[in-house]
Amino acid sequence: MPRETPPWVGSDFEPPTYKLKKIDEQSPEYKASLEITRSANPVVAVFGLSVLEDVELYRRNIGVDYSKTAAEQKIKKVLGASREEFKRLCYSNKTNHATAAFLREAMHDPHLEPQFRKIGSYLFPELAFQFVHRISYKLYEELLRWRQENMRQKQEAFARELPAVQEAVFLRIQRGMDKGTLPIDQRVFERRIKGTQVFLVDGLEMELEGGYGGAFYNEQGAICIGENVPFSAREKTLTHEWLHAFSGNTLASRIFEEGSEQAYTMVSPLRLGMHFKDRERYQSSSRFWWLNEAMTESLVMKLYEDEPTGQKPEFSYVDERALLEAFMVRGKKEIPWNILVNAYFENYNPTLLDTSTQNTRGTGVPAWKKLTTFVSEAYHPRFLVTLDNVVKQHGAKKALAIMQRNKGRT
Ligand SMILES: [Zn+2]
Repeated sequence: MPRETPPWVGSDFEPPTYKLKKIDEQSPEYKASLEITRSANPVVAVFGLSVLEDVELYRRNIGVDYSKTAAEQKIKKVLGASREEFKRLCYSNKTNHATAAFLREAMHDPHLEPQFRKIGSYLFPELAFQFVHRISYKLYEELLRWRQENMRQKQEAFARELPAVQEAVFLRIQRGMDKGTLPIDQRVFERRIKGTQVFLVDGLEMELEGGYGGAFYNEQGAICIGENVPFSAREKTLTHEWLHAFSGNTLASRIFEEGSEQAYTMVSPLRLGMHFKDRERYQSSSRFWWLNEAMTESLVMKLYEDEPTGQKPEFSYVDERALLEAFMVRGKKEIPWNILVNAYFENYNPTLLDTSTQNTRGTGVPAWKKLTTFVSEAYHPRFLVTLDNVVKQHGAKKALAIMQRNKGRT
Protein backbone atom coordinates (compact mmCIF):
# COMPACT_ATOMS: atom_id res chain seq x y z
CA MET A 1 0.00 0.00 0.00
CA PRO A 2 1.51 3.32 -0.91
CA ARG A 3 1.84 5.74 1.95
CA GLU A 4 1.60 9.40 1.12
CA THR A 5 3.71 10.57 3.99
CA PRO A 6 7.48 10.14 3.82
CA PRO A 7 9.24 8.38 6.71
CA TRP A 8 10.49 11.53 8.43
CA VAL A 9 7.01 12.89 9.04
CA GLY A 10 6.27 13.05 12.74
CA SER A 11 9.89 12.38 13.61
CA ASP A 12 12.47 14.89 14.77
CA PHE A 13 14.57 14.48 11.65
CA GLU A 14 14.86 17.33 9.24
CA PRO A 15 13.59 16.36 5.82
CA PRO A 16 16.34 16.28 3.22
CA THR A 17 16.61 19.36 1.04
CA TYR A 18 15.89 19.17 -2.65
CA LYS A 19 15.63 21.18 -5.80
CA LEU A 20 12.06 21.54 -6.98
CA LYS A 21 11.00 21.80 -10.59
CA LYS A 22 7.46 21.92 -11.94
CA ILE A 23 6.99 19.41 -14.74
CA ASP A 24 4.39 18.46 -17.32
CA GLU A 25 2.48 15.20 -16.99
CA GLN A 26 3.52 14.25 -20.52
CA SER A 27 7.20 14.80 -19.82
CA PRO A 28 9.61 11.85 -19.94
CA GLU A 29 10.54 12.71 -16.32
CA TYR A 30 7.03 11.99 -15.09
CA LYS A 31 6.77 8.78 -17.07
CA ALA A 32 10.13 7.56 -15.76
CA SER A 33 9.19 8.50 -12.21
CA LEU A 34 5.88 6.60 -12.48
CA GLU A 35 7.74 3.48 -13.55
CA ILE A 36 10.32 3.78 -10.78
CA THR A 37 7.71 4.45 -8.07
CA ARG A 38 5.59 1.56 -9.25
CA SER A 39 8.47 -0.91 -9.09
CA ALA A 40 10.15 0.49 -5.95
CA ASN A 41 6.97 0.98 -3.98
CA PRO A 42 4.35 -1.35 -5.45
CA VAL A 43 0.81 -1.32 -4.16
CA VAL A 44 1.02 -4.02 -1.49
CA ALA A 45 -2.58 -4.91 -1.41
CA VAL A 46 -2.70 -7.52 1.32
CA PHE A 47 -2.13 -7.18 5.04
CA GLY A 48 0.79 -9.28 6.34
CA LEU A 49 2.44 -10.05 3.00
CA SER A 50 5.81 -8.53 3.89
CA VAL A 51 5.69 -10.21 7.32
CA LEU A 52 5.23 -13.62 5.71
CA GLU A 53 8.08 -12.89 3.30
CA ASP A 54 10.35 -12.13 6.27
CA VAL A 55 9.27 -15.34 8.01
CA GLU A 56 10.05 -17.33 4.85
CA LEU A 57 13.45 -15.70 4.58
CA TYR A 58 14.40 -16.63 8.17
CA ARG A 59 13.22 -20.22 7.69
CA ARG A 60 15.16 -20.58 4.46
CA ASN A 61 18.32 -19.36 6.13
CA ILE A 62 18.29 -21.77 9.05
CA GLY A 63 21.72 -23.34 9.09
CA VAL A 64 23.02 -20.70 6.67
CA ASP A 65 22.78 -17.30 8.39
CA TYR A 66 20.98 -18.33 11.57
CA SER A 67 20.74 -21.22 13.98
CA LYS A 68 17.28 -22.71 14.38
CA THR A 69 16.82 -20.95 17.74
CA ALA A 70 17.96 -17.60 16.39
CA ALA A 71 15.64 -17.91 13.38
CA GLU A 72 12.71 -18.83 15.60
CA GLN A 73 13.37 -15.80 17.77
CA LYS A 74 13.43 -13.55 14.74
CA ILE A 75 10.21 -15.08 13.41
CA LYS A 76 8.50 -14.55 16.76
CA LYS A 77 9.68 -10.96 16.73
CA VAL A 78 8.23 -10.10 13.30
CA LEU A 79 5.00 -11.99 13.96
CA GLY A 80 4.71 -10.34 17.37
CA ALA A 81 5.19 -6.88 15.89
CA SER A 82 2.59 -7.58 13.23
CA ARG A 83 0.14 -8.90 15.82
CA GLU A 84 0.62 -5.66 17.78
CA GLU A 85 -0.09 -3.73 14.60
CA PHE A 86 -3.21 -5.83 14.07
CA LYS A 87 -4.28 -5.04 17.61
CA ARG A 88 -3.83 -1.34 16.95
CA LEU A 89 -6.02 -1.68 13.85
CA CYS A 90 -8.66 -3.43 15.99
CA TYR A 91 -8.75 -0.37 18.26
CA SER A 92 -8.72 2.27 15.52
CA ASN A 93 -12.15 3.51 14.53
CA LYS A 94 -10.88 3.80 10.98
CA THR A 95 -10.10 0.09 10.70
CA ASN A 96 -12.12 -1.75 13.35
CA HIS A 97 -14.80 -2.52 10.74
CA ALA A 98 -12.12 -4.13 8.62
CA THR A 99 -10.54 -6.18 11.41
CA ALA A 100 -13.97 -7.46 12.49
CA ALA A 101 -14.87 -8.44 8.90
CA PHE A 102 -11.48 -10.10 8.48
CA LEU A 103 -11.91 -12.22 11.62
CA ARG A 104 -15.54 -13.03 10.86
CA GLU A 105 -14.54 -14.47 7.50
CA ALA A 106 -11.53 -16.30 8.89
CA MET A 107 -13.65 -17.86 11.63
CA HIS A 108 -15.82 -19.47 8.97
CA ASP A 109 -12.83 -21.31 7.57
CA PRO A 110 -13.23 -24.98 8.55
CA HIS A 111 -9.57 -25.28 9.52
CA LEU A 112 -9.37 -22.07 11.54
CA GLU A 113 -12.77 -22.25 13.20
CA PRO A 114 -11.86 -24.89 15.86
CA GLN A 115 -8.76 -22.91 16.80
CA PHE A 116 -10.81 -19.79 17.37
CA ARG A 117 -13.32 -21.82 19.30
CA LYS A 118 -10.47 -22.88 21.59
CA ILE A 119 -9.61 -19.31 22.49
CA GLY A 120 -13.27 -18.71 23.20
CA SER A 121 -13.97 -15.74 21.03
CA TYR A 122 -15.37 -17.04 17.79
CA LEU A 123 -18.74 -15.39 18.29
CA PHE A 124 -17.71 -11.78 18.56
CA PRO A 125 -15.19 -10.59 15.99
CA GLU A 126 -16.22 -7.01 16.91
CA LEU A 127 -14.52 -7.58 20.25
CA ALA A 128 -11.36 -8.82 18.57
CA PHE A 129 -9.15 -6.33 20.41
CA GLN A 130 -9.94 -8.13 23.65
CA PHE A 131 -8.60 -11.48 22.51
CA VAL A 132 -5.83 -10.69 20.03
CA HIS A 133 -3.21 -11.47 22.70
CA ARG A 134 -4.69 -14.98 22.96
CA ILE A 135 -3.97 -15.69 19.30
CA SER A 136 -0.77 -17.75 19.31
CA TYR A 137 2.10 -17.00 16.91
CA LYS A 138 1.25 -20.19 15.06
CA LEU A 139 -2.41 -19.28 14.64
CA TYR A 140 -1.51 -15.70 13.77
CA GLU A 141 0.79 -16.89 11.00
CA GLU A 142 -1.95 -19.19 9.69
CA LEU A 143 -4.34 -16.27 9.79
CA LEU A 144 -1.99 -14.17 7.67
CA ARG A 145 -1.56 -17.01 5.19
CA TRP A 146 -5.31 -17.49 5.04
CA ARG A 147 -5.67 -13.79 4.27
CA GLN A 148 -3.28 -13.94 1.30
CA GLU A 149 -5.37 -16.66 -0.34
CA ASN A 150 -8.64 -14.99 0.66
CA MET A 151 -7.57 -11.68 -0.89
CA ARG A 152 -6.20 -13.41 -4.00
CA GLN A 153 -9.66 -14.84 -4.62
CA LYS A 154 -11.31 -11.48 -4.00
CA GLN A 155 -8.88 -9.74 -6.35
CA GLU A 156 -9.57 -12.29 -9.06
CA ALA A 157 -13.31 -11.75 -8.74
CA PHE A 158 -12.72 -7.98 -8.73
CA ALA A 159 -10.63 -8.17 -11.92
CA ARG A 160 -13.51 -10.01 -13.63
CA GLU A 161 -16.14 -7.48 -12.56
CA LEU A 162 -13.98 -4.35 -13.03
CA PRO A 163 -14.33 -3.78 -16.81
CA ALA A 164 -18.14 -3.56 -16.60
CA VAL A 165 -18.06 -1.28 -13.54
CA GLN A 166 -15.43 0.97 -15.11
CA GLU A 167 -17.44 1.19 -18.31
CA ALA A 168 -20.41 2.49 -16.30
CA VAL A 169 -18.15 4.93 -14.41
CA PHE A 170 -16.55 6.33 -17.59
CA LEU A 171 -19.93 6.58 -19.31
CA ARG A 172 -21.31 8.58 -16.39
CA ILE A 173 -18.27 10.87 -16.35
CA GLN A 174 -18.34 11.27 -20.15
CA ARG A 175 -22.03 12.27 -19.92
CA GLY A 176 -21.06 14.83 -17.27
CA MET A 177 -18.40 16.17 -19.66
CA ASP A 178 -20.90 16.36 -22.53
CA LYS A 179 -23.39 18.23 -20.37
CA GLY A 180 -20.73 20.66 -19.19
CA THR A 181 -20.90 19.52 -15.56
CA LEU A 182 -17.27 18.45 -15.75
CA PRO A 183 -14.83 20.66 -17.69
CA ILE A 184 -12.37 17.86 -18.43
CA ASP A 185 -10.40 18.00 -21.65
CA GLN A 186 -11.13 14.89 -23.74
CA ARG A 187 -7.40 14.25 -24.24
CA VAL A 188 -6.72 14.51 -20.51
CA PHE A 189 -9.64 12.13 -19.89
CA GLU A 190 -8.25 9.50 -22.24
CA ARG A 191 -4.63 9.97 -21.15
CA ARG A 192 -5.43 9.55 -17.45
CA ILE A 193 -7.53 6.43 -18.11
CA LYS A 194 -4.50 4.90 -19.82
CA GLY A 195 -2.09 6.02 -17.11
CA THR A 196 -4.06 4.86 -14.06
CA GLN A 197 -4.18 1.39 -12.54
CA VAL A 198 -6.93 0.18 -10.23
CA PHE A 199 -6.27 -2.15 -7.29
CA LEU A 200 -8.48 -3.94 -4.82
CA VAL A 201 -6.78 -3.47 -1.47
CA ASP A 202 -7.16 -5.19 1.89
CA GLY A 203 -9.39 -3.12 4.17
CA LEU A 204 -6.68 -3.42 6.82
CA GLU A 205 -4.29 -1.55 4.56
CA MET A 206 -6.67 1.37 4.10
CA GLU A 207 -6.91 3.56 7.14
CA LEU A 208 -9.78 5.65 5.94
CA GLU A 209 -12.59 7.48 7.62
CA GLY A 210 -15.65 5.32 8.06
CA GLY A 211 -13.63 2.14 7.71
CA TYR A 212 -14.01 1.73 3.98
CA GLY A 213 -13.48 3.66 0.82
CA GLY A 214 -10.85 4.33 -1.75
CA ALA A 215 -7.81 6.43 -2.43
CA PHE A 216 -5.99 7.91 -5.40
CA TYR A 217 -2.20 8.10 -5.51
CA ASN A 218 -0.86 10.47 -8.12
CA GLU A 219 2.73 9.38 -7.48
CA GLN A 220 1.94 5.91 -8.78
CA GLY A 221 -1.07 6.63 -10.95
CA ALA A 222 -3.00 4.21 -8.74
CA ILE A 223 -6.57 4.01 -7.52
CA CYS A 224 -7.05 1.73 -4.52
CA ILE A 225 -10.47 0.42 -3.55
CA GLY A 226 -10.98 -1.17 -0.16
CA GLU A 227 -12.08 -4.80 -0.43
CA ASN A 228 -14.74 -4.08 2.20
CA VAL A 229 -16.51 -1.49 0.07
CA PRO A 230 -19.84 -3.25 -0.58
CA PHE A 231 -20.32 -4.32 -4.17
CA SER A 232 -23.27 -1.92 -4.58
CA ALA A 233 -21.08 1.03 -3.51
CA ARG A 234 -18.10 0.23 -5.72
CA GLU A 235 -19.32 2.12 -8.75
CA LYS A 236 -19.86 5.28 -6.71
CA THR A 237 -16.54 4.92 -4.88
CA LEU A 238 -14.72 4.39 -8.17
CA THR A 239 -16.44 7.45 -9.67
CA HIS A 240 -15.15 9.51 -6.73
CA GLU A 241 -11.58 8.19 -7.10
CA TRP A 242 -11.60 8.62 -10.88
CA LEU A 243 -12.64 12.26 -10.42
CA HIS A 244 -9.50 12.73 -8.31
CA ALA A 245 -7.56 11.16 -11.18
CA PHE A 246 -9.18 13.51 -13.73
CA SER A 247 -8.90 16.61 -11.53
CA GLY A 248 -6.35 19.29 -12.30
CA ASN A 249 -2.83 18.98 -11.03
CA THR A 250 0.48 20.71 -10.68
CA LEU A 251 3.26 18.15 -10.78
CA ALA A 252 6.73 18.71 -9.42
CA SER A 253 9.90 16.73 -9.50
CA ARG A 254 12.16 16.95 -6.51
CA ILE A 255 15.82 16.25 -6.98
CA PHE A 256 17.41 15.15 -3.73
CA GLU A 257 21.15 15.25 -3.13
CA GLU A 258 21.77 16.59 -6.58
CA GLY A 259 25.24 15.99 -7.98
CA SER A 260 26.05 13.25 -5.47
CA GLU A 261 26.04 9.52 -6.06
CA GLN A 262 22.90 9.17 -3.95
CA ALA A 263 20.98 11.61 -6.14
CA TYR A 264 17.38 10.61 -6.76
CA THR A 265 14.24 12.19 -8.13
CA MET A 266 10.69 11.96 -6.86
CA VAL A 267 7.68 13.24 -8.69
CA SER A 268 4.54 14.14 -6.79
CA PRO A 269 1.82 16.71 -7.13
CA LEU A 270 2.10 20.08 -5.50
CA ARG A 271 -1.59 20.34 -6.03
CA LEU A 272 -4.35 17.91 -6.92
CA GLY A 273 -7.82 19.37 -7.46
CA MET A 274 -8.24 21.83 -4.57
CA HIS A 275 -5.74 19.99 -2.39
CA PHE A 276 -2.37 21.69 -2.07
CA LYS A 277 -0.29 18.76 -0.97
CA ASP A 278 2.78 20.64 0.13
CA ARG A 279 4.62 23.79 -0.63
CA GLU A 280 8.08 24.70 0.49
CA ARG A 281 8.66 21.73 2.71
CA TYR A 282 7.63 18.21 1.97
CA GLN A 283 6.07 17.39 5.31
CA SER A 284 4.12 20.52 5.95
CA SER A 285 1.28 22.70 4.82
CA SER A 286 -1.11 20.30 3.20
CA ARG A 287 -4.03 22.59 2.56
CA PHE A 288 -7.73 22.44 1.60
CA TRP A 289 -8.06 18.67 1.81
CA TRP A 290 -11.60 19.11 3.10
CA LEU A 291 -12.51 21.39 0.19
CA ASN A 292 -11.13 18.90 -2.32
CA GLU A 293 -13.13 16.00 -0.86
CA ALA A 294 -16.29 18.10 -0.52
CA MET A 295 -16.03 19.13 -4.18
CA THR A 296 -15.22 15.65 -5.42
CA GLU A 297 -18.21 14.13 -3.67
CA SER A 298 -20.48 17.03 -4.73
CA LEU A 299 -19.47 16.40 -8.34
CA VAL A 300 -20.25 12.70 -7.90
CA MET A 301 -23.69 13.68 -6.59
CA LYS A 302 -24.29 15.84 -9.65
CA LEU A 303 -23.41 12.87 -11.85
CA TYR A 304 -26.07 10.82 -10.06
CA GLU A 305 -28.63 13.65 -10.21
CA ASP A 306 -30.91 11.99 -12.78
CA GLU A 307 -30.97 8.67 -10.94
CA PRO A 308 -34.34 7.88 -9.30
CA THR A 309 -34.26 8.73 -5.58
CA GLY A 310 -34.44 5.13 -4.38
CA GLN A 311 -31.55 4.09 -6.58
CA LYS A 312 -29.05 6.73 -5.51
CA PRO A 313 -26.00 5.52 -3.63
CA GLU A 314 -25.08 6.86 -0.21
CA PHE A 315 -22.87 9.92 -0.46
CA SER A 316 -20.02 10.60 1.94
CA TYR A 317 -18.23 13.68 3.30
CA VAL A 318 -21.50 15.05 4.68
CA ASP A 319 -19.87 17.62 7.00
CA GLU A 320 -17.34 18.77 4.41
CA ARG A 321 -20.14 19.26 1.85
CA ALA A 322 -22.25 21.24 4.34
CA LEU A 323 -19.25 23.44 5.05
CA LEU A 324 -18.66 23.96 1.33
CA GLU A 325 -22.29 25.04 0.84
CA ALA A 326 -22.03 27.51 3.73
CA PHE A 327 -18.70 28.78 2.41
CA MET A 328 -20.28 29.48 -0.99
CA VAL A 329 -23.18 31.56 0.29
CA ARG A 330 -22.25 33.10 3.63
CA GLY A 331 -19.85 35.78 2.46
CA LYS A 332 -20.61 39.29 1.27
CA LYS A 333 -21.14 37.84 -2.19
CA GLU A 334 -21.81 34.32 -3.41
CA ILE A 335 -18.98 32.17 -4.74
CA PRO A 336 -20.34 30.61 -7.93
CA TRP A 337 -20.05 26.86 -8.36
CA ASN A 338 -18.44 27.11 -11.79
CA ILE A 339 -15.61 29.26 -10.38
CA LEU A 340 -14.85 26.44 -7.94
CA VAL A 341 -15.18 23.74 -10.59
CA ASN A 342 -12.85 25.51 -13.02
CA ALA A 343 -10.21 25.76 -10.29
CA TYR A 344 -10.73 22.09 -9.40
CA PHE A 345 -10.00 20.92 -12.95
CA GLU A 346 -7.21 23.38 -13.70
CA ASN A 347 -3.97 21.79 -14.85
CA TYR A 348 -0.74 23.72 -14.55
CA ASN A 349 1.46 23.07 -17.51
CA PRO A 350 4.95 24.56 -17.06
CA THR A 351 5.88 24.13 -20.72
CA LEU A 352 3.05 26.17 -22.20
CA LEU A 353 2.70 29.90 -22.54
CA ASP A 354 0.45 31.59 -20.00
CA THR A 355 -1.87 33.53 -22.31
CA SER A 356 -3.11 35.77 -19.51
CA THR A 357 0.34 37.02 -18.55
CA GLN A 358 2.41 36.10 -21.65
CA ASN A 359 4.64 34.41 -19.12
CA THR A 360 6.71 31.71 -20.77
CA ARG A 361 7.12 29.84 -17.52
CA GLY A 362 3.83 28.01 -17.92
CA THR A 363 0.08 28.27 -18.10
CA GLY A 364 -0.18 29.73 -14.62
CA VAL A 365 -3.29 29.13 -12.52
CA PRO A 366 -5.80 31.77 -13.70
CA ALA A 367 -8.82 29.76 -12.49
CA TRP A 368 -7.36 29.42 -9.00
CA LYS A 369 -6.52 33.14 -8.98
CA LYS A 370 -10.07 33.98 -10.02
CA LEU A 371 -11.37 31.90 -7.13
CA THR A 372 -9.09 33.62 -4.61
CA THR A 373 -10.26 37.02 -5.89
CA PHE A 374 -13.86 35.96 -5.27
CA VAL A 375 -12.97 34.69 -1.79
CA SER A 376 -11.17 37.95 -0.95
CA GLU A 377 -14.20 39.97 -2.00
CA ALA A 378 -16.68 37.68 -0.23
CA TYR A 379 -14.63 37.36 2.96
CA HIS A 380 -11.01 38.43 3.22
CA PRO A 381 -7.76 37.37 1.49
CA ARG A 382 -6.67 34.88 4.18
CA PHE A 383 -10.14 33.43 4.71
CA LEU A 384 -9.64 30.02 3.06
CA VAL A 385 -6.39 29.42 4.93
CA THR A 386 -7.94 30.43 8.25
CA LEU A 387 -10.93 28.19 7.60
CA ASP A 388 -8.63 25.34 6.62
CA ASN A 389 -6.75 25.68 9.92
CA VAL A 390 -10.02 25.50 11.84
CA VAL A 391 -11.04 22.35 9.93
CA LYS A 392 -7.65 20.76 10.56
CA GLN A 393 -7.86 21.51 14.26
CA HIS A 394 -11.52 20.90 15.00
CA GLY A 395 -13.02 19.07 12.00
CA ALA A 396 -15.51 20.25 9.38
CA LYS A 397 -18.55 19.96 11.64
CA LYS A 398 -17.17 22.31 14.26
CA ALA A 399 -15.88 24.69 11.57
CA LEU A 400 -19.40 24.90 10.16
CA ALA A 401 -20.85 25.64 13.60
CA ILE A 402 -18.30 28.40 14.15
CA MET A 403 -19.03 29.84 10.72
CA GLN A 404 -22.78 29.85 11.37
CA ARG A 405 -22.28 31.48 14.76
CA ASN A 406 -19.98 34.18 13.37
CA LYS A 407 -22.11 34.80 10.29
CA GLY A 408 -19.33 33.88 7.90
CA ARG A 409 -16.34 35.18 9.81
CA THR A 410 -13.68 32.78 11.11
ZN1 LIG B 1 -11.50 11.51 -2.12
